[in-house]
Amino acid sequence: MSDQRLLIMDDDPVIGRTIGLMAESIGMQYRAAVAPEEFFQQLGSWNPTHIVLDLVMPEMDGVEIMRQLADRACKACIIISSGVEGRIRDAARRAAVERNLDVVGVLSKPFKADQLRSLVQKREYSPLARPGRTGNGKRFEVTEGALWTALEQGQFELVYQPKISCATRALVGFEALVRWRHPEIGVIMPDRFIPLAETVGLIDRLTEEVLQQGLCWMTEIQHGPVLSQGLSLAVNLSTRTLVNFQFADQLARLCRDAGFDPTLLTLELTETAAMEDPVLALDMMTRLRMKGIHLSIDDFGTGYSSMLQLSRLPFSEIKIDRSFVMSASWSSESRTIIKSIVDLGHNLGLKAVAEGVEDEDTLRFLEQIGCDNAQGFLIARPMAGEAAVNWVLERHRTDKGARTANEGARSRAYRRGGKR
Ligand code: C2E
Ligand code: CA
Ligand code: CA
Repeated sequence: MSDQRLLIMDDDPVIGRTIGLMAESIGMQYRAAVAPEEFFQQLGSWNPTHIVLDLVMPEMDGVEIMRQLADRACKACIIISSGVEGRIRDAARRAAVERNLDVVGVLSKPFKADQLRSLVQKREYSPLARPGRTGNGKRFEVTEGALWTALEQGQFELVYQPKISCATRALVGFEALVRWRHPEIGVIMPDRFIPLAETVGLIDRLTEEVLQQGLCWMTEIQHGPVLSQGLSLAVNLSTRTLVNFQFADQLARLCRDAGFDPTLLTLELTETAAMEDPVLALDMMTRLRMKGIHLSIDDFGTGYSSMLQLSRLPFSEIKIDRSFVMSASWSSESRTIIKSIVDLGHNLGLKAVAEGVEDEDTLRFLEQIGCDNAQGFLIARPMAGEAAVNWVLERHRTDKGARTANEGARSRAYRRGGKR
C-alpha cells in the first residue's frame, strides 16, 4: 500500500497528526494541511490518492472545499471526517457524490485506524464504474445500427454476480448482467445501451440472447465438478418485454431447451409503474408465476418501484435498492429503511434480497435483521462465466476449514444476541 498518499485537511493540527499516524500504521504516506491554501497547494504538487476532509472549519468549510475539488475534477478517494450530526454528514456526502467526487465513506470523530483502513481498502477493490463511460473511459455514441450489429455479431456477453444467504453465507445463485464487448471500444456497460434498446424495440431480442446464454451457463455449471443443483439464476427484464404476448411461452421453451428448472429462475423487474399496459403486464406476470418462475421487484425504494406495485403485482421477492445498502454502514437512516423493507417484504410473504453489500458490517447487519440474501462487491464483483466458476471452486476449497467454523459460531452468537 506504500504508493497510497493521504492528504488530510483539518484545522486542528493535533487531529491532523493523529490521523496521519493512523495512515502510517496502515502503510500509507501522509501530509496534513491546516488551512485551505496549504491543502490546495499540496493537492496540486503531491497528487494524493486519498483525502480525509473535515467538514467544519473556520476559513472555508468542507462543503466549499469539495465544490472546489469538483471544479478541479479531483480523482482522489475522499473520506469525510467530522463530529457533526449524522444527517448533516450524509447530506454533505450526497452533495459531493452529486458533483461526481469519489466519496468512499464518512468517519465520525473520533475513529480508529481500523475504520480508516477498511475505507481505504474498500476502494482498492471496488472502484465505482462511472456511468456514461466505456470500460476504457472513451466516449462512444450508441446507435440503433451499432446495437443491431452487436446482436448479429454476438458482441453481448454475460457476467455473473453471486448471491449468498445472509444467515449461512452459502451461495444461493447468480444474477446475470449483460456487457457489450465492442471490438474497438471495449466493454460497454448496460446503462449505456439498455435504454436505447428499449426505445428502438430491440430489447426483446437482447433479453432472449441474455436468457439463452444465462440458462445455458447455469445448466453447464449444474453438471460441473463442484456446483450443487438448486442454484438460482436472476435475469433483468425490461417491463416492455412483459407486454410481448409470446414471452411466457418463449421463456418456458428456453428453459426446456436448456434443461433448466423454471422454479430456479427469477426475473428482476424495475420501473413497474412505467408499464405501458398494466393490465396486460399483470396477465403476463401471473402466467409467469404459474409456470413457477419467480418475480423480483428490483431497486425497491426508488423511482418507480413503489408500494402500489408491490401490492398489485404477484412478486415473490423484494430487492432493496443498492443506494440504501451501500450507505448502511454509515447512515442510520438507511439502516432503518432497509429494516422496514425487509419486514414489509416478509409480512407480504416475499423473500428480501439486498444488493450493493460492500462491507462486512453491512452483511452482519442484514443477517441480524433477517434479510434473506445478499449480493455485492464484498462477496464478489460480477464475473465472466469462467471466473465465476473459479470463484466458486476457490470458495469451496477455503470454506472447508476455518470459514465455516467461524461463520457458524458467529451466526449462532448473532441469533442468541437477536433473541435477547
Ligand atoms: P441492477 O439490476 O440493479 O444490477 C445491479 C448493478 O449493481 C450492477 O451494475 C452491478 O454491477 C452493481 N453492483 C452489484 N454489487 C454492487 C456493489 O456492491 N456496489 C456497487 N457500487 N455496485 C454493485 P451493472 O451491471 O452496471 O448493471 C446496471 C443495470 O443495468 C442493472 O441494474 C440493470 O437494471 C441493467 N441491466 C443489466 N443487465 C441487464 C439485462 O440483461 N437486461 C436488462 N433489461 N437490464 C439489464
Ligand atoms: Ca437486477
Ligand atoms: Ca437493482
